[in-house]
Amino acid sequence: METFDAHYSSMRATIIKCLPGADMELIDRAVDYAQNKHRSQKRKDGSPYIIHPLAVAQIVAEMGLDADAILGALLHDCIEDTDASYEDVEKLFGQTVAQLVEGVTKLTRANFSSSEQAQMENLRKMFMAMSKDIRVVLIKIADRLHNMRTMQYQTPEKQVLKCRETMDIYAPLAHRLGMQKIKWELEDIALRYLNPGDYDRIMTYLNVHKEQDEAFMRTIQSKITDRLAAVGIHSTVYGRIKHVYSIYRKMNTQGKTLDELYDVYAFRVIVDTIPDCYNVLGHIHDLFNLVPGRFKDYISTPKPNMYQSLHTTVIGTQGIPFEVQIRTWDMHETAEYGIAAHWKYKQGVGAGDEKDFEWVRRLLESQQDADADEYIQSLKIDMFDDEVFVFTPKGRIVSLPAGSTPIDFAYAIHSGVGNSMIGAKVNNRIVGIDTTLNNGDIVEVLTSKAAKGPSRDWLSICQSNQARTKIRQWFKKEKREENVIHGRSSFEAEMKRNALPLSITIDPELGPQLLRKLAFDNWEDMYAAIGYGGLTATKAVGRIRDDINKALKVQASEKLQVNPLKTNPDKESVKQNRHAVNGVIVEDIDSCMIKFAKCCAPVPGDAIIGFITKGFGVSVHRCDCPNTANREHPVQAARWVPVRWANQDSQPFETVLELECITRDGLLLDVAQTMTTARVRMKELTGKDMPGGRSVFTVKFEVKDVAELDAIRNKLLNIPDIISSRRGQN
Ligand code: MN
Repeated sequence: METFDAHYSSMRATIIKCLPGADMELIDRAVDYAQNKHRSQKRKDGSPYIIHPLAVAQIVAEMGLDADAILGALLHDCIEDTDASYEDVEKLFGQTVAQLVEGVTKLTRANFSSSEQAQMENLRKMFMAMSKDIRVVLIKIADRLHNMRTMQYQTPEKQVLKCRETMDIYAPLAHRLGMQKIKWELEDIALRYLNPGDYDRIMTYLNVHKEQDEAFMRTIQSKITDRLAAVGIHSTVYGRIKHVYSIYRKMNTQGKTLDELYDVYAFRVIVDTIPDCYNVLGHIHDLFNLVPGRFKDYISTPKPNMYQSLHTTVIGTQGIPFEVQIRTWDMHETAEYGIAAHWKYKQGVGAGDEKDFEWVRRLLESQQDADADEYIQSLKIDMFDDEVFVFTPKGRIVSLPAGSTPIDFAYAIHSGVGNSMIGAKVNNRIVGIDTTLNNGDIVEVLTSKAAKGPSRDWLSICQSNQARTKIRQWFKKEKREENVIHGRSSFEAEMKRNALPLSITIDPELGPQLLRKLAFDNWEDMYAAIGYGGLTATKAVGRIRDDINKALKVQASEKLQVNPLKTNPDKESVKQNRHAVNGVIVEDIDSCMIKFAKCCAPVPGDAIIGFITKGFGVSVHRCDCPNTANREHPVQAARWVPVRWANQDSQPFETVLELECITRDGLLLDVAQTMTTARVRMKELTGKDMPGGRSVFTVKFEVKDVAELDAIRNKLLNIPDIISSRRGQN
């Protein structure tokens, strides 16, 4: 069992060494305070809890952080694990320390372990985003390092969980912040629990070869030292075996066994000046054979995490290759402690303020070389503040677009939560549901079964597409009638604005075609969609405008072609058909308005069929009329009804023929004469020139049935230069 005294004096010695001016009295007060608060708690190994904060504070001091950070480390578990409050800590140790402790507490409460790889990126992003002060991250890393060092006391489940988290979050963060030493230690411990088989194999191998390795390293080391001393370069040289995890990774990425793996030795030469670095490099290359392609100059081009050194690989005695890293003492500090080393130089000049965060930001922005992996990319994103990370009361992280509100949060949890939302709490205080959320907020949604559902304003308040979509879905489902009315009136207004006839929607042929284009089964659904905002009227009309205009154009220019638009009923044509109601019987319907389709102008004797129009009764077509072609279509089928002629053959029916002719003088007169001779009551005769020396005559007249019509048609076709005829009119 570890003792308070041992840890305390060790920490004290480190602080005195690393931070000579520190106020030891204040630090002792924090130790007393923490010891008192944690007095009833024990570590897993049975030692008093205070050992842990002492050890964390020592690591923080070793990193070179300032006194506030050390106080923060000593108190880091007080708010989370004891009855101490933010206010207590603030009163005793000041605002900065209280904020550091609070920051660490927030990170502690967040659950950074996730089995979903997809969450990992969010976790790391949030970790940084939440730690407004970089010292919070560093204290948290120190906390984790001590917990890793004492991992043997945890249950196997907890070991795996924590080690995963360490590999996913803490080791990459330490790397990013340039803290190689800590990164290596975290990785080695994690490997030991996550992959004990490989870890043991490597350790055993290294132990077996220990003497041999050490002899080799001593030889090389003295070779270098002797040469540099001879030429008068002041240097420190030492050799080491690369850390276990990096050997493990090399084995895996290069597919090699331990025996095949050469690149396990690394030597460091630390000198006073940059010119010395390059001089040393020359001597190394003179002493040993260089392995081509392995030289890297990270002095002129530092790594993204500020790392600087010269790297080269050479082959020593016995043909064993090894790496040599050459750097100055400053560079060495940065390599070992990363951002924390930077801290050291800033002591007393407002360390820990916004500017330091700026420094991290710039550091991350400057990532451009191959080292800048996706992880850095993800850090960058969050530094630019387009996301916000908040917690559920149970500590689950929810990532939302920046500027999100409790509404977005509620819908991110579940649409049911959003739809029954009546209010929200942020960090345990009731807030408006349009409050902007901040990183690390704990958000609770207040719901009620009696809630009336979202309001339309929410659509403009929320920031996430997810919330917007779900709110629209609600309106779509719950308010269909209202939506249809809203939607129809905006659609109609938009049609009017575009000078398009509304009647088009009920056209038996074009109507369905337009619906297909809009991707709806019926007009009601489309109105509803416009009503709830799934589709705008402008977009809907825009999608069909060309089709309608094309159809209208066809109608205007090619009179010979059947134009479905003309089937639209208009009040006049209903009036004109004096016999409309009596001439035709509609099966199944007792009495209704009847009109004859102009497109095919049926007369008694023709096979006919009726189409139920909206508002104008039944329109009667000939069965062979092209406009009846899609009467089997499921959407339209119900509106086609069987009709038959009544026995009223004495009454004349108005019909119309179009005659195609070769243009010549007197032809119109010939037609008029033929009609008169046949004693036909002609109501209209018009002619129109067409391209290519052709013309079209339209004859409107009355007949009693199809037999009489055919007789007259034959007479007309006998007139020279009349080429063809067709019934109906466009
Ligand atoms: Mn802790």
